[in-house]
Amino acid sequence: MGQKGKDFDFVVLGGGSAGYAAARTANELGKKVAVVDGGRELSGLCILRGCMPSKTLIYSAEVLHLAQKGDLFGFRGEKPVADLAAMQKRKREVIQEFSDFRKEQLEDGRFSLFRANGSFLDTNTIALDDGQVLRADKILISTGSVVHTPDLPGLLDCPFKTSDDVLDLDYLPEECVVLGGGVVACELAQFLSRVGCKVTQLQRSKHILKGFSDEASTVLEKAFRTEGIDLLTGVSLQSFEHLKGGATRVSFEHKGQSRHLDTRFLFNALGRKPATAKLGLEKIGMERLPSGHIATNAHQQTTIPSIYAAGDCAGPHEIVHVAIKQGETVAKHAFGVSVAPMQYDHLLTVVFTDPQLARVGLTVSEIRDRGMEPISASYPFDDHGKSILMEAKWGYVALHADRASGRILGAECVSKDAGELIHSLSVAVALGATPSDLLKADWYHPTLSEIWTYPLEDLAEEISSPPNEPA
Ligand SMILES: Cc1cc2nc3c(=O)[nH]c(=O)nc-3n(C[C@H](O)[C@H](O)[C@H](O)COP(=O)(O)OP(=O)(O)OC[C@H]3O[C@@H](n4cnc5c(N)ncnc54)[C@H](O)[C@@H]3O)c2cc1C
Repeated sequence: MGQKGKDFDFVVLGGGSAGYAAARTANELGKKVAVVDGGRELSGLCILRGCMPSKTLIYSAEVLHLAQKGDLFGFRGEKPVADLAAMQKRKREVIQEFSDFRKEQLEDGRFSLFRANGSFLDTNTIALDDGQVLRADKILISTGSVVHTPDLPGLLDCPFKTSDDVLDLDYLPEECVVLGGGVVACELAQFLSRVGCKVTQLQRSKHILKGFSDEASTVLEKAFRTEGIDLLTGVSLQSFEHLKGGATRVSFEHKGQSRHLDTRFLFNALGRKPATAKLGLEKIGMERLPSGHIATNAHQQTTIPSIYAAGDCAGPHEIVHVAIKQGETVAKHAFGVSVAPMQYDHLLTVVFTDPQLARVGLTVSEIRDRGMEPISASYPFDDHGKSILMEAKWGYVALHADRASGRILGAECVSKDAGELIHSLSVAVALGATPSDLLKADWYHPTLSEIWTYPLEDLAEEISSPPNEPA
């Protein structure tokens, strides 16, 4: 290779969730591992500016929301209000602890850690921006994602906020306009609204949260509007203008009419894109998908077999447990340990709004696409003991099974703490359980979880009585 450099079995470019999981696994396999991370802070998106800070603040806002409904639960007192600076202080303390722990893990001597940005010199060589050169038999790209700003007229010339800014907010903006209807947009729109900001949310498609059923999205849309969020769907964004007084004018079409809104807090939550711009991928001829994600096979190998990609830069699902599993898969596959290819038929997804949305496995149409006959059953939370006594009546649970085998293949839950409730069904889907299998378990009364027994009983009965025979 001609250039002086350090040699490793495995170089991991990006020490976030995917990169750390891969490095840890390769180390356990006895490999010589380098982790390269050029981020200002070490720990990755989940800990620093993703899952953990957002869920810390969202939980604060949920507690505040409940406290503000004190009269409903039978107590009096002045309505509490948000103290954003205090919420931030708590968030910083919580995140510091997680981040310190991750840094310790990265610096404990199991890996050689390089605090620099890296890019490819050739398929086995990484140049660091501090001048060092690393060589390895196998390389993982796990560089994550960055905020995406779509090419909308004027947007880049206007001051806008991103999720990073919202997660660091230590004052209460009077009003804000949220662009987008994805997970981050919805979670943080409701957070802003609950802490006292007047929120208008603009979404292009007919429904928010496109990965979920229309029924699930509709429940959340109603809940948002009931809480006072001005949610407009079917919006076509036209242009953005930075006005003299400092506000931004957002012009859009809605229901055939041209409208505009002036805001001093424009929150661009229109998504993220893979962080691959400065890696020199063109130089080594690496293929990317139209979405910008690095193309991989199901073992996360790129089109150059000695180079792997995992996490947000590879997709297809930008969530932490997928990033971790992909990272572990990479290390095992790269170093000859038998490992199942990645597959997403059991995929678990949670949206931390209130009500929360959670789903696992296949939808009805995905079951049909695989040549099976789906059968479904559902039950609403406004007819369930525990949710009624908790005043948590939004939503429902739904189950989808394959009629022939009886196996539960998918489930959806919209409710308070749906992200917790979905896990019993995640286990069922992963283990290929039938409704009768699940009904062998105890379901404690009164709990939110016991609601699953109603659709389980319906499906168990339907499976035991073939469609053409009287029940
Ligand atoms: C607001 C928000 C909330 C979220 N909430 C959730 C949630 O509740 N649950 C969930 O599952 N997911 C959530 N996510 C998504 C989740 O955070 C990501 O999917 C996950 O963190 C991605 O991990 P990763 O390892 O791919 O990337 P990252 O953790 O971003 O790691 C990439 C690392 O690469 C480094 N890097 C980049 N380029 C280079 C380079 N050239 N050289 C060296 N280092 C480089 C960066 O410094 C960074 O440390 C959320 C995301 C956001 C934005």
